[in-house]
Amino acid sequence: MVTQAQILKWLQTFADEIEQHKDYLTELDAAIGDADHGINMDRGFKKVNTQLPSLADKDIGSILKTVSMTLISSVGGASGPLYGTWFLRASTPVTGKQELTEQDLLNLLQAGLDGVLQRGKAQLGDKTMVDVLSPAVVAFGQAVGEGKSTLEALHLVVVAAEQGMQETTPMLAKKGRASYLGARSIGHQDPGATSACLMLKCLLDSTSSNDLGI
Ligand code: ADP
Ligand code: MG
Repeated sequence: MVTQAQILKWLQTFADEIEQHKDYLTELDAAIGDADHGINMDRGFKKVNTQLPSLADKDIGSILKTVSMTLISSVGGASGPLYGTWFLRASTPVTGKQELTEQDLLNLLQAGLDGVLQRGKAQLGDKTMVDVLSPAVVAFGQAVGEGKSTLEALHLVVVAAEQGMQETTPMLAKKGRASYLGARSIGHQDPGATSACLMLKCLLDSTSSNDLGI
């Protein structure tokens, strides 16, 4: 089970982690893009962070929908609309909910991925955030099917996400700015895959902590 308080904690933790990894994400984007991924994400999630107090009494679906609108309106580049779509679509199956069962969380992760796939048209192996978000959903679904707890399942999600992130390094980029580089995109870790991995790690971290943050 994941509570509304843990979802708020997740967003706050992710905003903090993005701020801490802002330069790293931008460096990754400097190698195969236009050196703004950390800047883009930090702009969006700083804004999300300031909105969190006003979301304290909202349901999880409304919270995720607000995050989506904030990202779409404040983040440029490919990542704004793509993360915005992930949060918008992720919000739909959890509309009105104050806590999430494992099935709810699976639906959330699957809907977010489906949104990114539809919006960005990237496939697995194209060297994008999809290479993290997709194996993460598979890992969660498998773990839930095997009767694992939310925490155990999220541990496996993080393992799959880290592997997916690392596997983007030898890939040839086929979508986004990095694809303009052709073979020169090989040998660099994808920035969007890196931020997506961070997002899932934060979900595990905030689910591991109780409502008091202990
Ligand atoms: P931009 O590329 O417009 O400067 P960012 O630098 O913020 O935007 O984000 C780049 C990241 O966006 C890439 O590392 C990649 O993971 C992701 N991305 C780009 N295009 C797509 C796409 N079509 N589908 C999924 N993810 C994509
Ligand atoms: Mg960029």
